[in-house]
Amino acid sequence: MTVPSITLNDQTTIPQLGFGTYQVPPEQTAETVAAALEVGYRHIDTAQMYGNERGVGEAVRASGIPRDELYLTSKLHNHVHRPDDAKRAFDETLSALGVDRLDLFLIHWPLPTRYDGDYVSTWRALTELLADGRVTSVGVSNFQPEHLDRIVAETGVVPAVNQIEVHPYFTNEAARAASIRHGAEVEAWSPIAQGQVLADPVINRIAQAHERTPAQVTLRWHIERGDIVFPKSMSPERMRENFEIFDFTLTADEVAEIAALDRGAEGRTGPDPDTFDWVPEA
Ligand code: NDP
Repeated sequence: MTVPSITLNDQTTIPQLGFGTYQVPPEQTAETVAAALEVGYRHIDTAQMYGNERGVGEAVRASGIPRDELYLTSKLHNHVHRPDDAKRAFDETLSALGVDRLDLFLIHWPLPTRYDGDYVSTWRALTELLADGRVTSVGVSNFQPEHLDRIVAETGVVPAVNQIEVHPYFTNEAARAASIRHGAEVEAWSPIAQGQVLADPVINRIAQAHERTPAQVTLRWHIERGDIVFPKSMSPERMRENFEIFDFTLTADEVAEIAALDRGAEGRTGPDPDTFDWVPEA
């Protein structure tokens, strides 16, 4: 199965399907990511907050896959938004992963109610990391339209991606549209709503019509909308299932029908980025 690539606004490319590692326990990360690489995933999404970068690095080294055939993303933790802290935290990510270059580094949350509302200097710090080649692309996560407008207006640099919650029960159209308008690719997190959409009657009817599973139909829906996805699974069987989505297509009507399942803000599985303010204990 060949995974298509998406070209980012800095002309680099990213595999449209990757593997997510949120809630993969640190002590099981090396074997879990090894299984994902064995299935064929070449794009791994981790974060400082997940506490499992070390395990991702272990799996990458053990796989023997050349570094330039892998796409690695990590994200800045919430307690290190000040520019000097952010740069130090980036160094720590490289050393935890055991690599000398990261493909994509994101601000995990905008935290507009912290740091005097200043996520702009955090963004500027990330853009400065590009200079020495230790990170290839930088972007943001959970940025609302006004957050995107502000960082672009104040720095002139458009993030390569905006990684936001998107799935059939929360299509997050405003943030998605703002990202696309600025030229940032949309990465859809919790693409199957952590499993919540899999019992949906509409998705099940479409799955039956294609002789596919509800997870495959939901992931295919994201692919056809042009978004980047990285479903998480602890099971090699489900990793394989989620990978096998490039040998069928949905009709335009089916894509629209799934989008119509949107429940607005009630469909969120995660926190609202406008109010989310959690930082770990110092
Ligand atoms: P997903 O939507 O990927 O769902 C994962 C859950 O669905 C797990 O419980 C998994 O169980 C189950 N599952 C996976 N595949 C199948 C399948 N084929 N059939 C049935 N059940 C299945 O949720 P995530 O929240 O993990 O989102 C994906 C990734 O997005 C994260 O891992 C992380 O990398 C990123 N993310 C980013 C956020 C951000 O703020 N930037 C926030 C949240 C996520 P099992 O493991 O038992 O298979």
